[in-house]
Amino acid sequence: MIDTPRMAPPAFHLMTKPRGAICNLDCKYCYFLSKEKLYPNSEFRMSDNLLEEYTRQYIEAQQVPEVTFAWQGGEPTLMGLDFFKQAVAYQQKYKKPGMRIYNAFQTNGVTLDDEWCSFFKENDFLIGISIDGPSHIHDAYRVDKGGQPTFSRVIRGLDYLKRHGVDFNVLTTVHAANVPHPLEIYRFLRDEVGTQFMQFIPIVERDNDTGFQEGDAVTERSVTAEQYGRFLSDIFDEWVMNDVGRIFVQIFDVALAAWTGNRPGLCIFEETCGTALALEHNGDVYSCDHFVEPKHKLGNLQVIPLTEIVASDKQFEFGQAKRDSLPDYCRQCEVRFVCNGGCPKNRFIETPTGEPGLNYLCAGYRAFFNHVDHPMKLMARELAYGRPPANVMYTLAQEKLALERKFVGVGRNDPCPCGSGLKFKKCHGRRSG
Ligand code: SF4
Ligand code: SF4
Repeated sequence: MIDTPRMAPPAFHLMTKPRGAICNLDCKYCYFLSKEKLYPNSEFRMSDNLLEEYTRQYIEAQQVPEVTFAWQGGEPTLMGLDFFKQAVAYQQKYKKPGMRIYNAFQTNGVTLDDEWCSFFKENDFLIGISIDGPSHIHDAYRVDKGGQPTFSRVIRGLDYLKRHGVDFNVLTTVHAANVPHPLEIYRFLRDEVGTQFMQFIPIVERDNDTGFQEGDAVTERSVTAEQYGRFLSDIFDEWVMNDVGRIFVQIFDVALAAWTGNRPGLCIFEETCGTALALEHNGDVYSCDHFVEPKHKLGNLQVIPLTEIVASDKQFEFGQAKRDSLPDYCRQCEVRFVCNGGCPKNRFIETPTGEPGLNYLCAGYRAFFNHVDHPMKLMARELAYGRPPANVMYTLAQEKLALERKFVGVGRNDPCPCGSGLKFKKCHGRRSG
């Protein structure tokens, strides 16, 4: 039951799953697929009545001039194109004067064709495509129901998007099979897929029978914290020397926001959360897309108005708990200002002193955020002076050159000129040794 309502936030996100967890693929790490068990015997199709009601309530609840409808799954194209034509029609019907409506649509890409893509273009949809790297990497886990590879079908879908000039970004999951190949993946996405916008989402998959966020064992497909940190750092090093201002990687943007004193802008790195909810095909609303499980169900929007659901004590406490449950270890951490302990879904290990609630990815986040500290400070300084952060590429190239000059004539047992305190042979001299 919903508790006494408080003031609803002026804006919030609702990740909508009109087909529930139903998908045409069988990606081995997918946490959505197990959600089918929550709704036995359901057809997993959002009805037309519910679509209209949800659209009306969602628009009404937003006190801001821009509203984004976020479609996910499962695979949302399995609803068929007519469903989304109707969705756009309802958006126009209920839109407030002066309001701008956007649609963000996450798909595996394999069903896209001319018809879908001309609709997306016409209605200004932003498409997120899931692709894990070149074929030999992508196909490790992203297979169809028959266990067959999907890479060529995803590339065909991407070609349709490009042909129709549809805006798209790429979502790449980082897991045991692709984490050893950061640069190959980054260059493939940049040079062959031709995307300007990338997200690298770590796979931390709990190994249990419930499919919920329970237990502390992870599957062998999961990435380790250290691997994830190295993966991001390697890509960052390539990006910061070559691509600043032309390629946008979500976690790099988040970091730059934090280094300039702004909010990270992504729930997992915000101090609190609770304004990114999930809507199931039958109108059930959950605290978050990562917590579609009975104890995080807030109610059904056909029974309780969405504004009340969002403003409920239960949801408020869910969001505040992100900050309030932070271990002391995080509170004293030098990168807390950007990390904030990460997403609660991954907080299931202990700190070195035995405190519960540390993020499984902590070591990776800490290494990565420390790794980017110097270039981030340089970019933040450029922004403070009203100059483009891309100037960092020139500054770092100059620094590299100056350092290389210092290496000339240094003995292997001399202190390394970089100032690390190590002997040259154990530091920058290692490469030539
Ligand atoms: S639980 Fe994690 S993903 Fe969900 S809203 Fe909070 S930070 Fe974001
Ligand atoms: S890096 Fe680790 S210790 Fe620091 S805030 Fe993040 S999770 Fe906490």
